[in-house]
Amino acid sequence: MSDLDPHVTRFETRAIHAGQEPDPRNGAVMTPVYLTSTYKQDAPAVPREGYEYSRTSNPTRTALQENLASLEGGAWALGFASGLAATNALMDRLVPGDHVVAGNDLYGGTYRLFSKVFERYGIKFTYVDTTNVAAVERAIEPATKYVYLETPTNPLLRISDIAAVAQVAHARKKLVIVDNTFATPYLQRPLELGADVVLHSLTKYLGGHSDVVAGALIGNDAALHKELAFFQNAVGGTPGPFDMFLVMRGTKTLHVRMDRHCANAMQLARWLETQPGVARVIYPGLPHHPQHELAKRQMKGFGGMLCFELQGDVAAANAFASATKIFTLAESLGGVESLVEVPASMTHASIPAEMRRAQGLADGLVRLSVGIEHVDDLIADCAQALESARKPARTPAKAR
Ligand SMILES: *Cc1c(COP(=O)(O)O)cnc(C)c1O
Repeated sequence: MSDLDPHVTRFETRAIHAGQEPDPRNGAVMTPVYLTSTYKQDAPAVPREGYEYSRTSNPTRTALQENLASLEGGAWALGFASGLAATNALMDRLVPGDHVVAGNDLYGGTYRLFSKVFERYGIKFTYVDTTNVAAVERAIEPATKYVYLETPTNPLLRISDIAAVAQVAHARKKLVIVDNTFATPYLQRPLELGADVVLHSLTKYLGGHSDVVAGALIGNDAALHKELAFFQNAVGGTPGPFDMFLVMRGTKTLHVRMDRHCANAMQLARWLETQPGVARVIYPGLPHHPQHELAKRQMKGFGGMLCFELQGDVAAANAFASATKIFTLAESLGGVESLVEVPASMTHASIPAEMRRAQGLADGLVRLSVGIEHVDDLIADCAQALESARKPARTPAKAR
């Protein structure tokens, strides 16, 4: 809520209170789920507090939007039915001939939206390694409208320098969009570093319990807000009030969950590094991570995602992922429970194998979304799964 000044009230307090006040009529402490599509008007075309139809606005959505704006340090937020619906609203502003400089390591669904939907409408894309600021600068054209990046990326957890990218983009009057899904506003606030719009898949850490799909855009510029709110309403990819309630329940504990996600991931990363058969561990908190210093500067913690490469091929990774008992074999991330997946077989299987390998995504890569269970149990689970992943390699190949 705007009356909780972010310069005075700390993140943890705003996570619980921003946008949520006890109901002035009956004192309900929790924001009600306003299951209504329409609102009684005081006179023709005189809606109360601006509420006339729930695609346009709904009080439960308003409460979450104010909460998210406060957490990201923005002036406004807009809720969507999914992270991709939020990206879609941004792209709806563009017209044929417009150009986007995008990261070359984007969430697969974002790449699919760009290449399979918006390219058909005459929007042009250049994909660059956004960890390389000079490459971003070179890719900017007169027709460029956005520099669109993720940091950390999925699954290789590459870190881009948001402030440096914003500097080169703003020098050419281009907007910078940062997908902050992996870091969350608790660990990283792109608007404070110069980004123009932050995008979230609320499905992940902000929801935090793997029980809702939703998205959001957050920013500061009032004219841009007006334009994006127009597309939110005109296109209609809006979320239902119960989904907004679930995300609000998630954001209240974001800081507590993220502290544990970070601590568990760090301990697991260090342990994995000592294990035979593990060729490489990728985690921004490890000193040998190529952007470790940047991550330390730009982020408050290193997050709950980590990857490691098993010696051998995709079979070893698949064997590990099939053998875990606490880590659930599933796509997605950011919930309290630990998940495991094999990018080459699952989330990134649609990328041609050659291109995957060229990007550094090995076939034996395993991705973990480290949850907030007891870390000793997570380590024990990985230990037994590593043991069974090693077994097939010791068995001589059967005659065919
Ligand atoms: C999941 C995800 C998205 C897409 O969000 P949905 O809510 O699934 O539509 C976008 N970006 C990142 C980084 C994601 O992990």
